Amino acid sequence: MIEENIRVLENENGTFLFKCSKCDKQKRMRSPNSLKFKVKCPCGILTSVKLNARSDYRKTANIPVKIISQKFRGKGVTTNISNKGISGSYSARHELAVGDQVKIEYTIGEVLVTEHATIKYVNDSNFGAKCELLPQYSEARKKKGFFVMPPDQTLWLKLE
Ligand SMILES: [Zn+2]
Repeated sequence: MIEENIRVLENENGTFLFKCSKCDKQKRMRSPNSLKFKVKCPCGILTSVKLNARSDYRKTANIPVKIISQKFRGKGVTTNISNKGISGSYSARHELAVGDQVKIEYTIGEVLVTEHATIKYVNDSNFGAKCELLPQYSEARKKKGFFVMPPDQTLWLKLE
């Protein structure tokens, strides 16, 4: 099997267009939850692919959070975190409402992260919130940035 060098491809709307450099076979594929992986073509070429990061990549995460608004103080747990938002569940019901401005506090490692967020949906005890950007150069932003980065894994995708 011949192995090609790394090719950097554009990550558009969660998909990328792969084209084999030997046989020209091409296919639009769904971006995996990883930025580096390999694509195997039936012609025998194995290509390492690197995608650019999606800012909306959502990392599955189970982290305890405190949710604080003017009328509500509660505890919850995240289901996923991205640069732009957090979703999860919380312990009390019907006290959070769409449009509420909240603070969401949690720790990554030893670092306390305080998000200023707006509640975007509430459904039973599940919530989704859109987060403002954390202060530039802050330890929290750096820590979160690393945390939500998609993993580099050796996945094999088949081009067929
Ligand atoms: Zn090929």
